[in-house]
Amino acid sequence: MIVEMRKGASKDEIDQVVAKARSMGFDVQLNHGTEKTVVAILGSDTGKAPTDVFALLPGVGSVQRIMKPYKLSSREFKPASTIVTVSDIQIGGPQVVVMAGPCAVESEEQVFQTAEAVMKAGARILRGGAYKPRTSPFAFQGLQEEGLKILSRVKASLGIPIITEVMDTHEVDLVAQHADILQVGARNMQNYSLLREVGKTGRPVMLKRGFSSTINEWLTAADYILAEGNENVILCERGIRTFEDSTRFSLDISSIPVARKFSHLPIIVDPSHPAGHFEYVPALAKAGIAAGADGLLVEVHPNPAQALVDGLQSLTFSNFEKLMAELRLVAQAVGRSL
Ligand code: PEP
Ligand code: MN
Repeated sequence: MIVEMRKGASKDEIDQVVAKARSMGFDVQLNHGTEKTVVAILGSDTGKAPTDVFALLPGVGSVQRIMKPYKLSSREFKPASTIVTVSDIQIGGPQVVVMAGPCAVESEEQVFQTAEAVMKAGARILRGGAYKPRTSPFAFQGLQEEGLKILSRVKASLGIPIITEVMDTHEVDLVAQHADILQVGARNMQNYSLLREVGKTGRPVMLKRGFSSTINEWLTAADYILAEGNENVILCERGIRTFEDSTRFSLDISSIPVARKFSHLPIIVDPSHPAGHFEYVPALAKAGIAAGADGLLVEVHPNPAQALVDGLQSLTFSNFEKLMAELRLVAQAVGRSL
């Protein structure tokens, strides 16, 4: 249930709404907008509480039931779009943000060279997995802590912020010491303990959509992070499983306008994992920006043929540079910059 306070409602009036909700056994979260405060009343059986209990309190403008499963990530709770700030970069603002780098951290030289190349082409955040979710336990699992240290050294020398995946609750503190953005991978979208832990760090979190998850499930998963008081959540569409097998996944372009309509959170598109092949990446990347995404997460490798993970879908430096030039035009065509 969402209680919208009147413009200029006093702190006392807001406190009364909060106290009433708590006395009925519900949790609350507040969104202090520039115009007015919105109080989300949270609980599994808010449906049983009459809206009038809140509507009659002083300072209350309106009370709405939210029939959707997610609340904190909804536009009803927070009408204004969220901007997540990382260093001086705004994700969700007018400028499209490109995050690029290798699928996996393999060596310091590999990360350093890639960072230099993608920065030169206009990427503003460096990606690189130190912990890799692999289908087989016998495949390369990532350099783990050593990989994090490599990312930190490259960041210290080039000044580019880092996004890297955290797979396990036990590693959240360690990864948060190195990462500017914590990536929760598609396979972990419904790992609720992990979502709570990354929520507690307060660090920006990029939540990838599970490849068999609906948009409702994705936004409800985002609520787990937001419920810890962490407002810095970024959504990432990375393709879903369909009957189509000519690409690795099917990039669900429709999820961008849908998530935009129903949620205030910024949305990033990962064109690399759905494509599964470098030749398809530029088309999907451009489609993502054209459909209104706030940025991209792109895999780039100095020598894709030698990559330990996801070489086939990785762009070479020159292909990435070419893509960035094309993306500038697409961004401009939809009223954004890059
Ligand atoms: C990745 O970004 O390298 C990754 C493993 O992505 P996903 O979780 O979307 O498969
Ligand atoms: Mn990958």
